[in-house]
Amino acid sequence: MSSTGEETAEANAAADDSAKSTRDSEAPTDDPALAVRGLTKRYGDTVALDEVDLAVDDGEFVAVVGPSGCGKSTLLRVLTGLEVRFEGRAAVDGVDVRDGGSDAVGMVFQEPRLLAWADVRENVAVGLPSDVDRDDPAARERVDDLIETVGLDGFAESRPGELSGGMAQRVSLARGLAYEPEVLLLDEPFSALDQLTKYEQQDNLLDVWRERGATVALVTHDVEEAAYLADRVVVLGGQPGTVETVVDVEADRPRDRTDEALLAARREITDALGL
Ligand code: ADP
Repeated sequence: MSSTGEETAEANAAADDSAKSTRDSEAPTDDPALAVRGLTKRYGDTVALDEVDLAVDDGEFVAVVGPSGCGKSTLLRVLTGLEVRFEGRAAVDGVDVRDGGSDAVGMVFQEPRLLAWADVRENVAVGLPSDVDRDDPAARERVDDLIETVGLDGFAESRPGELSGGMAQRVSLARGLAYEPEVLLLDEPFSALDQLTKYEQQDNLLDVWRERGATVALVTHDVEEAAYLADRVVVLGGQPGTVETVVDVEADRPRDRTDEALLAARREITDALGL
């Protein structure tokens, strides 16, 4: 996350009031898996996000792209419940993120953030819900299944220092899945990887998405990645960040990276970004 600095007390109080009135007026509904409506987030005088709408259906893969500073990290911080002061609505499976909706979200960061002293199995187990006993044979089996899902069989007892960057990112993905989240959020998960490893990890993520029927929202600044992976690409722009456009990626799956439909989607995204 790239957020730094502090908010003013006034902005917080104003946002609190507005947030409360929105929350009180809306009980859980038949919202999509991820529902963001009229989301405005201020940091003091800075408006990071302005009236942003985002709906992600159950099992859908949505990418969010945009230039630096347009509020991508802020959006994720709201969805993960790290940012509770905002205007508008943000809900997971119909439950406001401030009322427990964010508990249904799993997060994968740009940096794998692994515990150096712990092996792969222990690092994945960190993602288990807090009420699960990690020494329980069922929990151990769940962790080992996840390690297999991300293609790391045979590495359960390796430590992060013994893994390549791509393997470490797979551990991070398995940890994000350990919670069995309704929605998996990924913040530029592949940006530190070399091109070939990145391609491999993108395909690995698609396999996991397909196998688990997960709902995925991926933040990236990589237009090619967004078009290749997503069903829909939400283009954020400006400061404050607003939704510039939403691009449907029509290419059939499994996708060929040179598919004309992907190239067309990429053109549409770059046009919207003014590139
Ligand atoms: P992105 O992830 O797209 O680069 P961010 O969400 O990090 O964008 O930031 C959006 C805007 O909000 C920027 O202008 C940034 O400076 C500002 N911002 C983000 N976090 C904070 C914070 N904690 N305090 C003050 N301003 C912030």
